[in-house]
Amino acid sequence: MKDFKRYLITAALPYANGPVHIGHLAGVYIPADIYVRYLRMQAKDVVFVCGSDEHGVPITIKAKKEGITPKDVVDRYHEIIKKSFSDFGIEFDNYSRTSSALHHKVSSDFFKTLYEKGEFIEKTTEQYFDPKAQQFLADRYIMGTCPKCGNENAYGDQCEKCGSTLSPTELINPRSTISGEKPLLKETSHWYLPLDKHEAFLKQWILEENKHWKVNVYGQCKSWLDQGLQPRAVSRDLDWGVPVPVAGAEGKVLYVWFDAPIGYISATQEIRPDWETYWKNDDTRMLHFIGKDNIVFHCIVFPSMLKAHGDYILPENVPANEFLNLEGDKISTSRNWAVWLHEYLVDFKDQQDVLRYVLTANAPETKDNDFSWKDFQARNNNELLAVFGNFVNRVLVLTSKYYGGVIPQPNDLQDIDKAILAEIGNAKKLIEENLEIFRFRDALKEAMNLARAGNKYLTDTEPWKLQKENPERVKTILNCCLQVTANLAILFEPFLPYSSKKIRSFLQLDSQKWSDAGNCEIMKAGNHIKEPQLLFRKIEDEEIAAQIEKLHKTKAEQAKTTNVAPQKQEIEFDDFGKMDIRVGTILEAEKVPNTTKLMKLKLDTGIDQRTVVSGIAEHYKAEEIIGKQVCILVNLKPRTLKGIESKGMILMAQDENGVLKFVSPESVTSNGADIR
Ligand SMILES: [Zn+2]
Repeated sequence: MKDFKRYLITAALPYANGPVHIGHLAGVYIPADIYVRYLRMQAKDVVFVCGSDEHGVPITIKAKKEGITPKDVVDRYHEIIKKSFSDFGIEFDNYSRTSSALHHKVSSDFFKTLYEKGEFIEKTTEQYFDPKAQQFLADRYIMGTCPKCGNENAYGDQCEKCGSTLSPTELINPRSTISGEKPLLKETSHWYLPLDKHEAFLKQWILEENKHWKVNVYGQCKSWLDQGLQPRAVSRDLDWGVPVPVAGAEGKVLYVWFDAPIGYISATQEIRPDWETYWKNDDTRMLHFIGKDNIVFHCIVFPSMLKAHGDYILPENVPANEFLNLEGDKISTSRNWAVWLHEYLVDFKDQQDVLRYVLTANAPETKDNDFSWKDFQARNNNELLAVFGNFVNRVLVLTSKYYGGVIPQPNDLQDIDKAILAEIGNAKKLIEENLEIFRFRDALKEAMNLARAGNKYLTDTEPWKLQKENPERVKTILNCCLQVTANLAILFEPFLPYSSKKIRSFLQLDSQKWSDAGNCEIMKAGNHIKEPQLLFRKIEDEEIAAQIEKLHKTKAEQAKTTNVAPQKQEIEFDDFGKMDIRVGTILEAEKVPNTTKLMKLKLDTGIDQRTVVSGIAEHYKAEEIIGKQVCILVNLKPRTLKGIESKGMILMAQDENGVLKFVSPESVTSNGADIR
């Protein structure tokens, strides 16, 4: 490989419409962080950037749903995401955000350069427009009947019931989710990046010059290129995003996929006055850590943008991972099927490294993989605790016990001692080889194998049996063990930084360089170590059962909410204001003869005493409800039911199984109290 002078490492910008979960961590951020720590330990020149992706339609939809602004949404999640990363030791040089003024300027300038160089084509197409809201509708703002399965609530881009990919014009009876109106087709013009124009270059660059890319990445790129590339719109009609910096483009913003990767550039500019050194010099090694859903953007689209611009370097590698599933099911933010990072740390306080370990040992590097709580427990108890933690603990405890914490002077080494010390250099070499080709699982396995070898060495040499008859021999054994322990702290540092820090503190060592690994004289005879503490704790069955229970609950709740009717069409406040709803007390109640559902009630409404017939007889007994305060719509036109005039309607909550419950004031209030 070329001798690079510096590294520019980017990690996919998480979308700021929800918190981050284990899938994000396993796919992108842990591998990126491991690699960066490994580089930093070698004192390489590294810039590691990321940030929140804060534009795009899903954010505007979420804002609308919650009655807040898109800025409120991104402000909330930017903070949550940023904190989760920091809590898990993902040490970016800059975690920025695409709503920043600087990013707006950088991405706007980038567009302008391409525009002025004639790198875009302009096309006019017909798109759905909401005449009432006076705006073009993004696919997700259009709903209608799925032409494939008849689901009445299919989206403009997808039917979630049958999974079909749709285009808005395929929907039967389309409606705008903003106003409920039937949308009209209207002409709009947009700029497109003609990817087809870059096809020859991409084929040469990826298929010929980048054969060293991971198989899953190379394969996906090849399949895109084999299908032939199409021009892709870089702008859209929306009021949230980076405005298109061209006269006459009012109401249009940069498409989120266009501005998001430029976020890497602005995040670098934000912290480095010399940012151009990183972005524009051939001797920079740029690596994009991403998940598989982003391969096309980082291998085909963004490189085409960079190439069209002309000033920038291209990524040297794009080590994308596949997806992590959870307990056999696809992780889903909308279905809440996830282990959220901020929740994990509440249940497993200070156990970042356990999750970092499990997600690396089980990383979806070449194919999708599954996270299960049982596996999490097994890996903690059988590997971290029983192998790594156990070795370190035994070494420290014996050193304390035999020598009061003073590192013993070794005597002549026997073959078995030489063999364990040789294992250190061997492990280092294998870890390096694997890290260089982004095989994090295998690299971690090699570090663990060194701890395993340490345990075997202790078992084979049995210092606890020799201490009485041959204390000099035990000094040699424990000195060797301490050298292994110090090396484990270095070799595990990229993967388990919190545990390495603890070991270094036990051993009274400062932070160490990667090049120190393999040194078998790190621990100097005569120096002191500290009183040992456990590195890991056992994870009990009950803790795992609680996590699984939590997931089952989520599933049950989700099953319920899918039966909840969608929200009705928006109304004006005046429509609501017309309803006169009061608190009343039930004075009398009797079942209406020869009916199953109806009950005749007499109520004191504060205004009067009146009779209301209500369909609650299957849900309440007459004697239970006398004296109860309920809510009644008093100005509903009277109706006659079974010969009884009913004046008004009692408000009831009906669940998905049709069970009725009164809506009552939280505590007793006066009859006639107005509900508003
Ligand atoms: Zn469908």
